[in-house]
Amino acid sequence: MSNETKKVMVIGGGIAGLTAAWELAGLGAQVALVEKADFLGGHAIQYACKATDECRQCGACAVESMLKNVVNEPAITVHLATEVAGVNKNGNFTVSLKKSQTAKDLKACENAYTDNPTGCAAVRGYSLNNGRYYQADGSLNPETTGNADTLEVDAVVVATGFVPFDPRLKSTYRYDDLKNVVSGMDLETGKRANGTVLRPSDGKPPKKVAFIQCVGSRDERLGHLWCSQVCCPYALRTAQAMKYKDPELDITVFYMDIQNTGNDFPVFYQQCKDEMKFVRNIPVDMYETEDDRIRTRFMTAEGSSEVVEDEFDLVVLSVGIMPAADNATLSETVGAPLNGDGFFACADKLNRASTGQAGIFVAGTASGPKTIAESIVHAGQSAGEVMKYLGRAS
Ligand SMILES: Cc1cc2nc3c(=O)[nH]c(=O)nc-3n(C[C@H](O)[C@H](O)[C@H](O)COP(=O)(O)OP(=O)(O)OC[C@H]3O[C@@H](n4cnc5c(N)ncnc54)[C@H](O)[C@@H]3O)c2cc1C
Ligand code: SF4
Ligand code: SF4
Repeated sequence: MSNETKKVMVIGGGIAGLTAAWELAGLGAQVALVEKADFLGGHAIQYACKATDECRQCGACAVESMLKNVVNEPAITVHLATEVAGVNKNGNFTVSLKKSQTAKDLKACENAYTDNPTGCAAVRGYSLNNGRYYQADGSLNPETTGNADTLEVDAVVVATGFVPFDPRLKSTYRYDDLKNVVSGMDLETGKRANGTVLRPSDGKPPKKVAFIQCVGSRDERLGHLWCSQVCCPYALRTAQAMKYKDPELDITVFYMDIQNTGNDFPVFYQQCKDEMKFVRNIPVDMYETEDDRIRTRFMTAEGSSEVVEDEFDLVVLSVGIMPAADNATLSETVGAPLNGDGFFACADKLNRASTGQAGIFVAGTASGPKTIAESIVHAGQSAGEVMKYLGRAS
């Protein structure tokens, strides 16, 4: 391998992109991390801690530690509010970047930053104590933000993640017009921002909550046959944390199947069954009562014809992991194909980081549903494969 420092572009600054960038820097590469949002950390930086009297291993705080590693690593240049406009392969890759208005504002923000860090619109990640990163440790200074319009790189890692299912596409849940029907994403961000779960209509803690599982996943009508793998763990861990805080809280989980959440699953699931009601049926027809509760109808069990009604203060739609809307465009730009579900295809079952295109690799949920822990492992594999490729390529 030549002694020349290898340059790698990582597209996407969620936990997968952060991990890939960090690992690559550790392996001696110079990394350009291109993130289209105006903050790093992707979806998971917006999630709440699900600890009860002990850590429930949800993985959310791993994102914050990785983010701190990355912003303090001189071998990584962060390009916030930036997208890849074009990639030209001529031995290595010439990349043209497109800055959003926010990226331009970032530059203007630099001077204001010293006097008033929280006044800068550049970053929205939250630290564990719900402060902004600027307040927490002064990291993510916009001055570290890359301003290049073009990059020359030797390899590319696609870590552009997923989008949560849009619950408006399942109109029976009336997400759009019932205030107290929220998505799992709303629950996470609300709990992180407020430190607790509150009912949107009156800002009070709910006393009776329903979780509806598999919203947007395992759905033949939508053509989404995959299990999103993360919505059972996040819903049950959050429900358990809520119950720990308020033992009187009444929780019902409507489900089709419950996804195994890891080694401790049998014990964890039994605890949940002891603390909550589980109904193997998905409710239909949501109505708002005069006191802003949600009335819904459901069969008491799978295959049963007995229909019952119940009312809840809050209904949580456990939305799953969908391919990002711009995957098709990015796939064309970088020349890496998508699979039938719209995620980036893995070319080799034994090498899940390979896209089949020389020099282009994939990490995290860009290639399909994964937990935070799985995304970290996948990104580590991806970084290793990039360095193997660069060793061979030189
Ligand atoms: C409601 C909900 C709750 C969850 N809770 C948990 C949990 O408690 N524990 C757990 O382990 N997992 C949880 N997950 C799963 C978790 O969100 C993922 O495992 C994790 O976010 C995957 O990280 P990622 O980096 O692959 O993707 P993302 O978090 O989606 O990050 C991708 C990044 O790429 C950027 N990007 C996208 N397109 C482009 C582009 N074209 N150019 C530049 N940048 C781009 C995005 O802005 C984003 O910052 C949950 C999922 C959902 C939907
Ligand atoms: S965020 Fe999750 S992993 Fe971290 S302490 Fe809380 S429960 Fe544990
Ligand atoms: S993880 Fe659970 S809620 Fe999510 S799609 Fe799979 S079975 Fe359904």
